Amino acid sequence: MNVLRRNGLKTKTVDVLIAGGGTAGVIAGIAAARNGADTLIVDKQRCLGGQFTAGMQGAWVGFSDKEKVIVKGIAWEIRNIFKERNAIVEEDPETDVCFLYDTEVAKVVLDEMTQKEKNLHSFLNTSIVDVITEGDTVVGLIVLSEMEQMEIRAKVVIDCTGDAAVAAGSDVPYEIRPKKDIQPMSLLGKMAGVDMARVKQYYKDNPPVQDTSEPPAWHDFKTFPGFMHFGLQDELANVELPPRLEYLRNWLAIFTSTPNPGEMTINCSGAIEAHSIDGFEARAGQEVFSQKCLYDVAEALRLYVPGFENAYLTAIASLLGIRESRRIVGDYKITMDDFKSARQFEDSIGRGAMPAGTHTPDGITMVVYDLDPGKSMSIPYRCMLPKGKDGLLVAGRCVSFEPQVANCIRCMPQCMAMGEAAGTAAAIAVKQGTTPRQVDIKILQDTLIKQGAII
Ligand SMILES: Cc1cc2nc3c(=O)[nH]c(=O)nc-3n(C[C@H](O)[C@H](O)[C@H](O)COP(=O)(O)OP(=O)(O)OC[C@H]3O[C@@H](n4cnc5c(N)ncnc54)[C@H](O)[C@@H]3O)c2cc1C
Repeated sequence: MNVLRRNGLKTKTVDVLIAGGGTAGVIAGIAAARNGADTLIVDKQRCLGGQFTAGMQGAWVGFSDKEKVIVKGIAWEIRNIFKERNAIVEEDPETDVCFLYDTEVAKVVLDEMTQKEKNLHSFLNTSIVDVITEGDTVVGLIVLSEMEQMEIRAKVVIDCTGDAAVAAGSDVPYEIRPKKDIQPMSLLGKMAGVDMARVKQYYKDNPPVQDTSEPPAWHDFKTFPGFMHFGLQDELANVELPPRLEYLRNWLAIFTSTPNPGEMTINCSGAIEAHSIDGFEARAGQEVFSQKCLYDVAEALRLYVPGFENAYLTAIASLLGIRESRRIVGDYKITMDDFKSARQFEDSIGRGAMPAGTHTPDGITMVVYDLDPGKSMSIPYRCMLPKGKDGLLVAGRCVSFEPQVANCIRCMPQCMAMGEAAGTAAAIAVKQGTTPRQVDIKILQDTLIKQGAII
């Protein structure tokens, strides 16, 4: 890679610059490189994948419309690699709305995939600290690693930061709900040593009363191939909790099996201390509080849920799970009406069918709106185009949509589909010497279909 120096600052020029190599960003990078663009991914984590890996999500939700697979392309290629390595749990991929995968295997798979692309490079442990604009066009970023800054110029920048950090930093209008309304954050972790047979038997003998084993609208469908439990209220209802665990009584703790025997992912959804875009101290406070909550939930499981007696916390995610923060105002904002009517957009670049809705701000439950099996909404290219700004595309959970649609748009398969579309569109724009907004949608759609994507 060519690195120059201007006014003491290292500089570099690429065709496509991906801000954030997370769920959407890593796929955007692969797609742009495969379509011939000299591409660079920049991420502040030590590995690629964002929530997909460092966030330890471990459950891909949204590949199917409960009758057939609706997300393919690069995301499906990854699913096939997991299948070969025995690192995924699925029974019927056509109807399972959730596949459980191994987040540690995912880290290596993403490295292998990105290293195969000769046009693709990644800077890890590197933070984006500023955006370079010329008039209404984003032309690059300033990044920082180990006290060293670099100016990176690009023909197209793709904001895959999850938080629309680049868009916000270049004055793209955005929306964010106040803390009282926003979906809660959750830190995830893993426990090993769980006696799964005992856990399953316990829930068979003691069907949930206050806890719900599945979110309400999913009851009628076969959804989860592994084990998943929503809640902790039943288990804690009749026990005398030590005062320091008393706050967990009404908590929604979600626990899910993984492809590995005796291992469980713990997702504790009530860890709301600060708003995700609050200042330095509040953000640090959120991290500390979330970690304590995860530790406490693990203890409560060990003490009060049969099968967890000998289980122990083995890992805490290195990336806090932020469900919701900024959403850009795009050329089009996806509405709840679009979801309910399973709208087919002319500029469709992907599909979503997961129940729309959100986790309630108190972290206790979810509001869910479902589509009938076989129905899905298309995702329009325009929701990734930030209003009034050129040179910039946005992909992932920070595109333009009404917050009520969130769960249909922000799930990993949908973020990956958007990533593939954004990377492909950026490469086409570079090839044609035009802007992402001017890209011929027919050419983009044909290219995506050729890549195996479902639009
Ligand atoms: C608690 C929780 C549970 C969830 N459960 C599920 C589930 O079961 N199934 C499912 O499919 N989805 C689930 N989701 C949703 C899904 O995981 C995310 O919405 C999705 O992964 C977001 O993808 P993204 O690419 O937009 O962001 P991310 O994957 O978060 O990637 C953003 C990347 O940008 C990087 N970045 C950000 N700012 C900077 C910066 N300034 N400099 C450098 N790098 C930066 C980050 O390090 C990160 O790697 C869940 C989300 C959460 C939070």
